[in-house]
Amino acid sequence: MPVTHTLEGPPSVDVLGRQDPELAEILLAELTRQTTTLQLIAAENFTSPAVLAALGSPLANKYAEGYPGARHHGGCELVDVAERIAVQRATALFGAEHANVQSHSGSSAVLAAYAALLRPGDTVLAMGLPHGGHLTHGSPANFSGRWFDFVGYGVDPESGLIDHEQVRALARTHRPKAIVCGSISYPRHIDYAAFREVADEVGAYLIADAAHPIGLVAGGAAPSPVPYADVVCATTHKVLRGPRGGMLLCGSGLADRVDRAVFPFTQGGAQMHTVAAKAVAFGEAATPAFTAYAHQVVANARVLAQCLAAEGLAVVTGGTDTHLLTVDPAPLGVDGRTARGRLAAAGMVLDTCALPRPDVRGLRLGTAAVTTQGMGEAEMARVAVLFGTALRDESAGRHVREEVRDLTGRFPPYPG
Ligand SMILES: *Cc1c(COP(=O)(O)O)cnc(C)c1O
Repeated sequence: MPVTHTLEGPPSVDVLGRQDPELAEILLAELTRQTTTLQLIAAENFTSPAVLAALGSPLANKYAEGYPGARHHGGCELVDVAERIAVQRATALFGAEHANVQSHSGSSAVLAAYAALLRPGDTVLAMGLPHGGHLTHGSPANFSGRWFDFVGYGVDPESGLIDHEQVRALARTHRPKAIVCGSISYPRHIDYAAFREVADEVGAYLIADAAHPIGLVAGGAAPSPVPYADVVCATTHKVLRGPRGGMLLCGSGLADRVDRAVFPFTQGGAQMHTVAAKAVAFGEAATPAFTAYAHQVVANARVLAQCLAAEGLAVVTGGTDTHLLTVDPAPLGVDGRTARGRLAAAGMVLDTCALPRPDVRGLRLGTAAVTTQGMGEAEMARVAVLFGTALRDESAGRHVREEVRDLTGRFPPYPG
């Protein structure tokens, strides 16, 4: 199809720099920050130049309320094609009957899943926030805690593993309308079949909030929730490496309810530049290179966990099956908050997190971003040593910062 472009190409940072140097400087400084420090935040990644190109494209100008073929706005012929491609690629990638790719974020996807299946006041069983549940799993500060009656399950304080007996007992007692499985910090595979069994026993819907592992699922490095959950909620920007956004997967029986829960119930116009960028990311995730990436992410996390244990940190559950791990730095004489500050000063960026023990903050870190940069097991072993050094000796921070600069300099995420 012949297309006449009136723009020479997508606007670049150069254009921004000429018009608004104040903002351009922030963009460039942020790129420098991202590329000269170690990005160990488990929820972050480096999306590809192709995804960034779609995000910075004129599709951002288009209003498109509704769905392909049924929009409330004119001129949607081309963005309709982009959304159909995104949906088709998502369903093929995850083996799902239906995909909704319009959710603006992971939280919006969870909101839509609740809206599709629940009424205000319904009881929902989800992982408690002190054990690794997300804000949307019943925090009193979030719509979920305000509008639904959440009951929280937890992890065994010794093993750090989900206590499925407790899940079953709570489900029998509270008869929830839905059970949510998924976490912001659980380092092990989720046993979706076990959750399905409990959901069936009490007649509850099963919602999998796979915001974190969905990228590993795409790469065949983690079990898929799709065969088990009624609705799967996900983000597209974590291990999956796409644009910042959300997604829902479900069977065809719930497709209409899920679509109506996204638009018009909880959202307005779709962000078509992001939808197109999701399509690009799904295309990338279907390649053998992404499968290799996903497996390397897990291999790197395993080595990182082993080597951090060798440095003296307490690794929750003794290791990881995924891209993320949580550790308690207490054996090195620092609490989680102090540790995060020391590591930040040394150029290592990560989060604190809840630990199975009440009122103790640990550290959560992940390997998705550093693996995108091309780092492997040898680099993870080095990172663990730098980690231990920075935590044991505050005065070593400057020296570690130089080593981090050297390491990141050898693995540019956007070479060229
Ligand atoms: C990241 C995450 C979300 C929310 O994603 P946002 O895009 O930040 O709204 C929801 N649930 C879980 C389990 C997550 O890890």
